[in-house]
Amino acid sequence: MLDARAIEKSFATRSGTLTVLAGVTLQLENGASAAIMGPSGSGKSTLLNILGTLEPPTSGALQIDGRDPFTLDNRELGVFRNRTVGLVFQDHHLLPQCSALENVLLPTLAGEADPAAPRRGRELLERVGLADRSDHRPAELSGGERQRVAIARALVNRPRLLLADEPTGNLDRRTADRVADLLVELHAGSDLILIVVTHSETLAARFAQRWELADGRLERQ
Ligand code: ADP
Ligand code: MG
Repeated sequence: MLDARAIEKSFATRSGTLTVLAGVTLQLENGASAAIMGPSGSGKSTLLNILGTLEPPTSGALQIDGRDPFTLDNRELGVFRNRTVGLVFQDHHLLPQCSALENVLLPTLAGEADPAAPRRGRELLERVGLADRSDHRPAELSGGERQRVAIARALVNRPRLLLADEPTGNLDRRTADRVADLLVELHAGSDLILIVVTHSETLAARFAQRWELADGRLERQ
């Protein structure tokens, strides 16, 4: 499970200390799904980055499956993150020179070679509806297709957590709905903990829990 307690995050800025998160507590059991909403600048990405172990909180405790990732050294943390967390952003962050399949397989290249990886990559591309696009480069895919590749890439190491930061923010309404369908479908019946930051009420409504981040705190809606 994901267990975040009293997470605070401040940044030192020229005009003094900026406190973005002022005690965020969130516990999610395996298989849970949650949408996080909140105004622009309220700290949603900051929170997701902490939950995704990309940056430590100023104070507070984070445990994922009973382990505090921020006690690990940098190398161990990299390995932990690679295995435990799948991240999807508003922009797809795919490598332009790599095919869809190669992009999906990128997270499997760290550490020991996994002979089952290519097959899993192809299966995931099939699950996201892109089996016939595996040789396409990002420039040869539509926005929605690129985001599907990014989702497949986030899942290729079978993470415990899938964190999506405004994953449909750059897509038109219809494409956004289809990417949302896909997230819901991929999560259904799995043990995955899914957290989606979104401005869309329609998207938020599709997840079991809805939270609002305001004044540095999360409030269940
Ligand atoms: P959201 O994703 O909800 O729009 P962010 O988490 O990106 O909000 O940002 C929350 C606030 O923290 C903003 O005011 C932003 O300017 C500030 N912020 C984010 N990262 C940094 C940083 N590294 N240094 C200073 N301020 C930051
Ligand atoms: Mg953001």
